[in-house]
Amino acid sequence: MDNFLQVHLNLLQKNNIPFPELELRVLLNKTSVVDKEIIFSNFELSTIALKAFHQAIKRRINNEPISKIFNEKNFWKYNFFVNENVLDPRPETELVIEKVIKYFPKKDEKLKILDICTGSGCLAISLATEYRKAQVTATDISSDALKVAQINANNLCSDNEIQFVKCDLIKNLDTYDIIVSNPPYLSELDYKKTTKEIQSFEPKIALIGGIDGLKFYRDIAYLLPDILSSTSVVFVEIGNNQAKEAIQIFKKKKIKCLEVAKDTQQLNRLLVLQKINTK
Ligand code: GLN
Repeated sequence: MDNFLQVHLNLLQKNNIPFPELELRVLLNKTSVVDKEIIFSNFELSTIALKAFHQAIKRRINNEPISKIFNEKNFWKYNFFVNENVLDPRPETELVIEKVIKYFPKKDEKLKILDICTGSGCLAISLATEYRKAQVTATDISSDALKVAQINANNLCSDNEIQFVKCDLIKNLDTYDIIVSNPPYLSELDYKKTTKEIQSFEPKIALIGGIDGLKFYRDIAYLLPDILSSTSVVFVEIGNNQAKEAIQIFKKKKIKCLEVAKDTQQLNRLLVLQKINTK
């Protein structure tokens, strides 16, 4: 193997980067000046922007995720801009979009959609591009996160506007057909058990849901009765051990669980909810 590759592979390994070969390839491709994909067997040093490469690998061995180094993360069908102010969109969150499409298969309906705690805007924007005629509102308490969401909306969904609102969960007591949320749901203790990559480079505010991790389910459950019609459906992401408690929280507000959906690792990851009809 080329000496340059070997030296940097060793460097990543020594710093306990979990998939050193894969990550080295990503770092090389992200800092390459040519179009062709770089693999170890066709590697030529002249194709790499060396200053950018050295800066990137330095950040990576300091545990910064690749997404934050290069300000991009794939989610659903798009590449989202991310920075230190937003949680990186996670693959398991794509389950929210899959389930919305299952419950609302008619893509050309004029639906009203609300995304609570939008962060990077990944859910609101993906839904807006699936449902071109929908009216989408997305909220977040962090104005820095909303700036990121707005950048993503400008890049990814030019022809239908999303209304971004800075507020604590919701501002207007409108009703919506679809409500989605991936709220912060780690307990204080679970947060302490997360990796250095998460603790140093993801916003804490996007991860911790109070001492027991369930704070946002309580707060959202309290607000939902005012913004649900009898046919509205709510899709909330949950931590893998939270289904039972979260279902109870919603039940107290007369909201029933239609489905507990599992992610690809077979962990409970999403509740589908609807108002209990009392008529
Ligand atoms: N809605 C965003 C996401 O799904 C942000 C979630 C958050 O900040 N808790 O990734």
